[in-house]
Amino acid sequence: MTGSIVLFGPPGAGKGTQADKIVQLTGKPQVSTGDMLRLALSKETELGLEAKKYMEAGQLVPDNVIIGLIKDRMHESDARNGVLFDGFPRTIPQAEALESITEVSTVISIEVPDEDIVNRIVGRRMDPENGEIYHITFKPPPTEVAHRLVQRKDDNEETVRMRLSSYHEQTKPLGDWYMEKGILHAVEGTGSIEEVARSISKILTFL
Ligand code: AMP
Repeated sequence: MTGSIVLFGPPGAGKGTQADKIVQLTGKPQVSTGDMLRLALSKETELGLEAKKYMEAGQLVPDNVIIGLIKDRMHESDARNGVLFDGFPRTIPQAEALESITEVSTVISIEVPDEDIVNRIVGRRMDPENGEIYHITFKPPPTEVAHRLVQRKDDNEETVRMRLSSYHEQTKPLGDWYMEKGILHAVEGTGSIEEVARSISKILTFL
């Protein structure tokens, strides 16, 4: 498949988890703006420190910052045949800017109701050694790695509620925008990780 794929959905829908599987399936590299911002923050770059206040408040980082980050990333050679965007675009201006950067051929929207989101995010843990994502109930970690798992600073209930409201106000309208373009495919995100992966791979196989 030519062009880039966008993984769309609320925070905690399972975009990062499914991204790993789509990368294996398509060979396209994953481009996660959230991961890029967290890396910048851990290195205390100017961009990371600027983004920090928005991320910790559960707000979106300004469009110009995000678009600059994506433009730079898309100049790298592995992005030539398209990438898998995870957590980008999150606003209509970001999607408009993306149109002049790469062709988006498919948008996969992972649908999860609001009432499930808080539990999914608050129970989420990450293995800092390999980036593997677990959930204390839905995807418990093996005992040998459990001691080293970390929780994202913005994965607390108060910040999650702010992130959800940013999602509804600024990101959700983008779903309709892509729907009108005829490239949005919705999948039910509440099944098991394998069930969601199967629905996504069906979509990607038939394209
Ligand atoms: P994520 O890991 O995708 O949940 O992103 C974590 C945080 O990074 C978000 O709550 C935002 O503050 C910021 N962020 C990530 N991607 C974007 C984006 N495309 N536009 C604006 N802010 C973003």
